[in-house]
Amino acid sequence: MTSADSSLQPVADLIAGRPVPHIRTALPGPRAAPLIESDLRVSSPSNTRDYPLVARRGRGCVVEDVDGNLFLDLAAGIAVCASGHCHPKVVEAIHRQSSELIHICGSDFYYPVMVELMNKLAAITPGAKPKRVLLTNSGTEATEAAFKLSRFHTNRKWVIGFHGAFHGRTMGSLSLTCSKARQKQGFGPLVPMVAHSPYGNTDFIENVLFKQQMRPDEVAAIFFEPIQGEGGYLIPDASFVQSLRRLCDESGILLVADEIQAGMGRTGKMWSIEHFGIVPDIMLIAKGVASGMPIAAVVAQEPIMNWPPGAQGSTYGGNPVSCAAALATIELVEGGLMRNAERLGAPLLSRLKVIAERNSCITRARGLGLMAGVDVINPKTGKGDLALRSKILMDAFQRGVILLPCGEVGIRFCPPLVISEDELDTGLRIFEEAVAKSA
Ligand code: PLP
Repeated sequence: MTSADSSLQPVADLIAGRPVPHIRTALPGPRAAPLIESDLRVSSPSNTRDYPLVARRGRGCVVEDVDGNLFLDLAAGIAVCASGHCHPKVVEAIHRQSSELIHICGSDFYYPVMVELMNKLAAITPGAKPKRVLLTNSGTEATEAAFKLSRFHTNRKWVIGFHGAFHGRTMGSLSLTCSKARQKQGFGPLVPMVAHSPYGNTDFIENVLFKQQMRPDEVAAIFFEPIQGEGGYLIPDASFVQSLRRLCDESGILLVADEIQAGMGRTGKMWSIEHFGIVPDIMLIAKGVASGMPIAAVVAQEPIMNWPPGAQGSTYGGNPVSCAAALATIELVEGGLMRNAERLGAPLLSRLKVIAERNSCITRARGLGLMAGVDVINPKTGKGDLALRSKILMDAFQRGVILLPCGEVGIRFCPPLVISEDELDTGLRIFEEAVAKSA
């Protein structure tokens, strides 16, 4: 089998028989260049664009720019477009819902599509006991809400996160984020009583934090990504995750699993935590859940979400159109996309390992399902090479492949889950050409 089940593939009407990728202008092209100029005059300088892609349309794993160039997308809008760009079933759900009800406010009123989504999320998240669901608009808001809930529920103040973690950019979630110094620079003081520990083992928590900084019974929650995303696509040993569960159980600490990037079938299981055999107390969901429509969720074991009316709320959280897109996406992920991610995980990883063997500037190939990464190093010094990574990303773009960085010197591979083996093959071949050309 060389390609994903054709029923998983959205109609590729924009390709119209052309090969993908297909670059027919200089990049940026004549339409893209003035748009970029105009954008840069008005947009916040905080954006981090690695190369000049000006997207116009997307279908499946293909993005067309404003000049008609076709790109193969191995980044899915930062691991968001789970069902690919504009999957017909997601588009249809959005059309249907937007012609019936666009907004009413889920904090104040009830509507069927929100009830259906909350029940669905409660049913598909780990743990057999009843759960409660809070819908928000973005990952950072979900983190923020879980931060507040954990303090409220436990009546404790300390919260622990990990070096390399990314949980968002609002003040609470930013206090937990510990990925890049520039993400925090100039914004302090952040929320007090947040401590960080090295990712991958619990020694520092047990031997330093619990002895020198706080007692375990002062800790409300430990927030962690079962697989670190922004921090570098790092997969920990199961023993780390299991130790976290044990520590939390011993001291009444809530364990919060941030599945915002690694969840929704990306690693070949619905939730990445399922690879480690434990059940968290609270789970955070966003990104892939609605294939690009803004929605996120906090799912907590039932007794934990015990705050009273008014303690939390949002004007747009659980927007009906986003709920409809999420239900359509979940159906697609359960209906085959998760299997596709599992099926393609081995070929993706083994191909990256071969690329690392053949190219001395590529190292540490790692991955689970369609969540994989490599690091870029200077072969002479063995140290990370930021400039070379930028060159590789730019060269891959010029050849028509969309990739994104992660970690200090990593490149992440997180394509839409609809990707076929042929598309993956093409993307990796071009990536290796970009590596060979840039090194
Ligand atoms: N948590 C993780 C693991 C993420 O990867 C991200 C975003 O990249 C967030 C939280 C924040 O999500 P958002 O950008 O939707 O606020």
